[in-house]
Amino acid sequence: MCWRCQELFQTETIMSASRGTPVEGDVVICVGCGALSVYERGGVKVRRPNPLEEADLISDPDVVSAARAAHAEWARRTGQRPLPGMGAL
Ligand SMILES: [Zn+2]
Repeated sequence: MCWRCQELFQTETIMSASRGTPVEGDVVICVGCGALSVYERGGVKVRRPNPLEEADLISDPDVVSAARAAHAEWARRTGQRPLPGMGAL
């Protein structure tokens, strides 16, 4: 579940570093709001990335563009203003 918008992740709504079952360390971009999450051990729960992981994630243009697109869609759908920065973290 997304730590920000509480949307449940489903296989068709996540972007994962590995295909199939998520494993610890896999990154999820919430299509509901664009937030980035990292899978914890067991690949069941997710958490917000720590600052080190965030810095690593936003150095990847693919991650940034996907997160931005999802966040823009979230802002449009909910009528809320986009969050500062890239809105994804
Ligand atoms: Zn979300």
